[in-house]
Amino acid sequence: MSEQKKSYSHVIRERWCKGCGICVAFCPKKVLALKNGKVVAERPEDCIGCRMCEYRCPDLAIEIHEVQDAATSGAELVDPALPPEAHHA
Ligand code: SF4
Ligand code: SF4
Repeated sequence: MSEQKKSYSHVIRERWCKGCGICVAFCPKKVLALKNGKVVAERPEDCIGCRMCEYRCPDLAIEIHEVQDAATSGAELVDPALPPEAHHA
């Protein structure tokens, strides 16, 4: 039960993407799609981080970054834990 759900962010350099569709074709989870001649991550939550898109893109226009859920929720915990000083009654 120690398995953490991993998620991935898709960094797309639109200026480098020529809309060839190679990454879209190679993605096994159909995460990617072409819109207006550029690739977009349409279903990022389905990404398994295999990096086929990154390896296959001839223009280095797409990169996959792993997002740690623990880090994300940790960051979210910080804000509400700090009451503003002005809150004193
Ligand atoms: S890393 Fe794999 S699953 Fe994720 S978008 Fe790229 S090809 Fe698809
Ligand atoms: S393989 Fe690269 S250039 Fe081709 S659509 Fe995907 S990101 Fe764009």
